[in-house]
Amino acid sequence: MNGLLRGRVALITGGGSGIGAAVARLYREHGALVVTLDRTDGDVIGDVRDPEAHRRAVAHTLDAHGRLDILVANAGVHDGGRGLLDLAPEELADLAATVLAVNVTGVLLAAQAAAEALKASRGCIVVTLSDAAFTHVGVGAGPVYAASKSALTGVVRALGHELAPAVRVNGVAPGGVVTGLRAALPGGGTESVFDDPEDILAAVRAMNPLGIALDADQVAQSYLFLASPGAAGLTGEILRIDGGLGLRA
Ligand code: NAD
Repeated sequence: MNGLLRGRVALITGGGSGIGAAVARLYREHGALVVTLDRTDGDVIGDVRDPEAHRRAVAHTLDAHGRLDILVANAGVHDGGRGLLDLAPEELADLAATVLAVNVTGVLLAAQAAAEALKASRGCIVVTLSDAAFTHVGVGAGPVYAASKSALTGVVRALGHELAPAVRVNGVAPGGVVTGLRAALPGGGTESVFDDPEDILAAVRAMNPLGIALDADQVAQSYLFLASPGAAGLTGEILRIDGGLGLRA
């Protein structure tokens, strides 16, 4: 059924690529007007670590469309699966500062900047977490990425309380979706996470009970549900889209 988001306006961080871009496509198919904030390829160009970028994105959305109903706080960066013992202490401090700032502070700043407009529209927030928030089995992440995505379980609950009753706050925790996801490098710069997509897909299928590897368009369906009228009674929840990986944790 099309049109679930007719008349709604969405702002998506990290909407220039991967899961965020797939959510933008699906939301538009369902009638929403969508604005993306991205560091490289968005309607608004900016870094989610910068409060000013969020102020500009919300102002652009309100100027262009007059309201904001859905914030998808999705921009994120990986840690390249580096373990504690793979890193010198200074490298660990640097990697943690980058990953936590993008993945956690970036979500908090987005939610803060959007809160007033979302309260006015009785809207919702959907946060992108990861299977790394719940299990370490087969997720290919190190402790820094796990820390950042686990922190977001608390953010979803805390904001669910703080912004109720006007704003619902939920999350999606995907696992193993081949995208352009980058890993921060200690000392600066990034590298690709999914260099060998076929190997990754085979490993993902082998690991989860459903034997499944989802693409970004399939994962986007959960973001549609959480923003749709059918989710009117849901807040503080996280949908784990990982083929049942958690059953093996
Ligand atoms: P992606 O790299 O294709 O998309 C992420 C987008 O975020 C990019 O467009 C990038 O430019 C943007 N971005 C990154 N850092 C930014 C910053 N500081 N400021 C503004 N924009 C920034 O990767 P993706 O896989 O679509 O990732 C989206 C989210 O999904 C991330 O939070 C990621 O941690 C999460 N996730 C991905 C997977 C997976 O398997 N791909 C699994 C679990 C969770």
